[in-house]
Amino acid sequence: MTLKEIGFSLGRYRPAARTSAGYSNNLKVFGYRYEAYPTLQKVNHFARVQSQSDPGHTWSVGIYFEGVPFSNEPTEHGIPVNPTDKGRVDKNSLYYIEPASYNTTKVKIYCACPDSQFSFEYQNYIAGANPDRYGYRPYTRKTVPIPTRPRNPRNPNTAIDPVTGKKGRDFVNPKNYSGHCKHIYSFVNYLISSGLVSMV
Ligand SMILES: [Zn+2]
Repeated sequence: MTLKEIGFSLGRYRPAARTSAGYSNNLKVFGYRYEAYPTLQKVNHFARVQSQSDPGHTWSVGIYFEGVPFSNEPTEHGIPVNPTDKGRVDKNSLYYIEPASYNTTKVKIYCACPDSQFSFEYQNYIAGANPDRYGYRPYTRKTVPIPTRPRNPRNPNTAIDPVTGKKGRDFVNPKNYSGHCKHIYSFVNYLISSGLVSMV
């Protein structure tokens, strides 16, 4: 998927995302760094983004672009990068990359925050937009019982915990829309304002 496609999918799942307080304000970005792999044509961008609800906390985020052309020679808009590949390329030579395209460059995204984990990690994983950098773990429900969807009218108590009598929480994002949290949103804007991502 591209950033544009993920954003479009997010808008279908969470129509207010673009206008809610969380998505219209950029959260602070700290500790930006990148990894550049000329032989794989990949560039990974990393940072920590401030939590909105707990300003003393930051979440680890990653945005991984694929199919990025590298050049050995400076180009008009080329951004100089040091290669990360070990033993494959001359680590002392500079490479030049063009800004990734918001509209066309394939991307995988990761954020450690609960919204990303619970709303989008699996959905982005099955859409090929999760880097699986830390090993994808399928969600396992820790509370019982699992609510039925659609609810079985002949057995309406399937969503009631027989011990506590409480109703299990509904599934999050059951239609499996890809999307991203406000931290990824802020980091994308950071990369755009830094010239690393173009809106072309
Ligand atoms: Zn997040």
